[in-house]
Amino acid sequence: MELVDNIYDVIVIGAGPGGMTAALYASRSDLNTLILERGIPGGQLNNTAEIENYSGFKSILGPDLATKMFEGAQQFGADYAYGDVKKVVNGREYKEVHTYDKIYRTRAIVISTGAEHKKLGVEGEQEFNGRGVSYCAVCDGAFFRKKHIVVVGGGDSAVEEGTYLTQFADKVTIIHRRDELRAQKILQDRAFKNPKVDFIWNSVVEEIEGDEKVSAVRIKNVKTGEISEVPAEGAFIYIGLLPNSEQFRDLGITDEEGWIETNEYMETNIPGIFAIGDVRKTPLRQVATAVGDGSLAGNAVFNYVEELKESLETEETLKN
Ligand code: NAP
Repeated sequence: MELVDNIYDVIVIGAGPGGMTAALYASRSDLNTLILERGIPGGQLNNTAEIENYSGFKSILGPDLATKMFEGAQQFGADYAYGDVKKVVNGREYKEVHTYDKIYRTRAIVISTGAEHKKLGVEGEQEFNGRGVSYCAVCDGAFFRKKHIVVVGGGDSAVEEGTYLTQFADKVTIIHRRDELRAQKILQDRAFKNPKVDFIWNSVVEEIEGDEKVSAVRIKNVKTGEISEVPAEGAFIYIGLLPNSEQFRDLGITDEEGWIETNEYMETNIPGIFAIGDVRKTPLRQVATAVGDGSLAGNAVFNYVEELKESLETEETLKN
């Protein structure tokens, strides 16, 4: 393990919209800032085709917004490094952030590790992952030109991405476990109007079938118990999110499902550890809310680090 020399003022873990905004605010306040990311900058933005509910842009492609935010995050000197964080060790003077091969020291931490797509947990899902099963319409949609796709779920993601997939597929069937969608009304209206989208209600997927690739999904009607097969070459799963917070569980800052709890300043119950964006326990998970969280955290981190440095200096003076 290499101990990195520099002691940072703040390490931002995760470079999604929230993390990049926190880094922008922190570095603009002259804090010595590092962003650690295990993938590519942008987080879920990279899996999102079009964003039309982020103020200032009538419509923008997710990866384009990611690039702009990354440039913004670095413009005041924030460092950026690859790092898959395995552990955080709390301390008052400084905290440690452990990756596989490095230990970083920092006065404060902003956790913005986001969330990932939930798995159905049915037979065939893992086996056909990448061979018809997908969790990312932007990444994989083009493989399904003129094909039949099923989309599982009834939230914003299922309905929005299902509609997006009609530009490739001949037909998109959204399979939902109830008879009413959870998605925002504007997204529902678009899907209902789209002649390529149809719905199967009150049904759950029991198995994803195929030989080399997906050829059908077996579904069960939860009202009647009837089992049927829906032929399809693609199965896109959008049944919600799970927090990426495994490595922070033993800090005692998460709820029972793993979402990190904070107050309105994005402070967790550990002084100097903040959490923002999708990994936070929050009623709305959007680019705009992550950005809002990031700016609040950037500001709160500045106050925390200033106060910490002052009290450490005072203690040092009293000692001498
Ligand atoms: P979500 O809002 O949690 O919806 C998950 C959907 O999957 C629900 O309809 C749920 O059914 C269904 N579901 C859950 N577990 C299931 C299972 N085991 N089998 C079958 N169906 C299951 O998740 P999401 O759509 O991924 O959205 C995540 C967050 O991102 C939300 O906050 C959403 O608003 C946000 N988002 C926003 C936009 C946008 O603003 N344009 C786009 C995408 C995502 P029930 O309805 O019966 O619970």
